[in-house]
Amino acid sequence: MEKQLLEFDKNHIRHPYTSTINPLPVYLAESTEGVYITLKNGQRLVDGTSSWWAAIHGYNHPILLDAIKKQLEKMPHIMFGGLTHEPAVLLAQKLIEISPKTLQKVFFCDSGSVAVEVAMKLAVQYQYARGQTKKNKFLTVRGGYHGDTWKAMSVCDPVTGMHSIFKGNIAIQYFAPSPKIKFDEPWDKKDIFELENILTEKQQEITALIIEPIVQGAGGMRFYSPEYLKAVRQLTKKYDVLLILDEIATGFGRTGKLFACEHANIQPDIMCLGKALTGGTMSFAAVLESNEIANTISNGNPPEFMHGPTFMGNPLACAVALASINLLLSSNWKQKIENIQKQLTKELEVAKNFKNVEDVRVLGAIAVLEMKSAVNMAVLQKEFVEAGVWIRPFGKLIYIMPPFIIQPNELSQLTKIMLRVAGN
Ligand SMILES: *Cc1c(COP(=O)(O)O)cnc(C)c1O
Repeated sequence: MEKQLLEFDKNHIRHPYTSTINPLPVYLAESTEGVYITLKNGQRLVDGTSSWWAAIHGYNHPILLDAIKKQLEKMPHIMFGGLTHEPAVLLAQKLIEISPKTLQKVFFCDSGSVAVEVAMKLAVQYQYARGQTKKNKFLTVRGGYHGDTWKAMSVCDPVTGMHSIFKGNIAIQYFAPSPKIKFDEPWDKKDIFELENILTEKQQEITALIIEPIVQGAGGMRFYSPEYLKAVRQLTKKYDVLLILDEIATGFGRTGKLFACEHANIQPDIMCLGKALTGGTMSFAAVLESNEIANTISNGNPPEFMHGPTFMGNPLACAVALASINLLLSSNWKQKIENIQKQLTKELEVAKNFKNVEDVRVLGAIAVLEMKSAVNMAVLQKEFVEAGVWIRPFGKLIYIMPPFIIQPNELSQLTKIMLRVAGN
């Protein structure tokens, strides 16, 4: 049975970022519970990924399951055109309450990439409504990741985002170098000179600057200085360019703050949320915008914002997202993440002396071992599974972002095997 399922999968199903002829191997998962993933063959793995940043409370949390079940029986879905519902209203209220206070309007959509599309469209339509029709390009930094749809892809790092394949189909944007000053290094404003140069020269063409606050995630897992982000906020204001913060990976506590922009104490004009929004249970995202943007668009011609997905504001997703946020806020999440950060820092520090390790970095509940050369993902993945952990490296990076509920002994299991494979 297991063999047949895997065989069919291999022959017919696409998995992320791999080929169909010689795909990276996949493991057959059967169930989840807390920080554990159980494979069909009975093996239990400590999860170091939170299923790509999402499952912050671990898997199958009873409060989240209960929220889904209750909503499921009442109303799993209803169109959002002409109708609304309590889960959407309560979730929007909560998001407005906990996010930077300039953000006063909420757009619910299906996934992170779609949220980025919506954010970029809002920015363009805002400039259009102001008569700034030449402002239709975006500025970002290298090393970013914003999703896999067309416009989101156009602001991903041009090299790791493989823009060469899509040349002619992908919008050309402006790229400043990626921030060099690390999270806890002393600030040097030279780090942002090139970005300011682009703004000085091209401000008439630039709609918005889009950036992941503090943590550049899938584009390289780098943590940059909060001073950089502060400078970005000042410069975008000075040059009349909107600021879009992509908090899809960082939102909901991951970096030690509820939102990563709080490290820099700044407020964006538009913010994208996703990944951990539903506590890892289903695909959902939200775009928050300021009244200034919403009112400008609404006073324009046309006054409508031109976007409205079929599953917009899905009640199941709204209900579980609200439950997840309340669960997070009622837990001692700050302390938990601080403890995780301390333990990760202490246990991984020794890797700085390993000859194959370039850098070791920890921020909040994220830990990264950057190797000197690219790892063999399939080989390492097998080693991790055999050792009873689920960690998925990419490129030169062996990294974890575990569920916040992970216990110290389980976290040690993850760091121990990371050290073992990095030390080889
Ligand atoms: C994952 C991610 C996205 C894309 O979200 P999807 O739900 O995968 O479409 C966008 N931006 C950032 C920063 C992300 O980490």
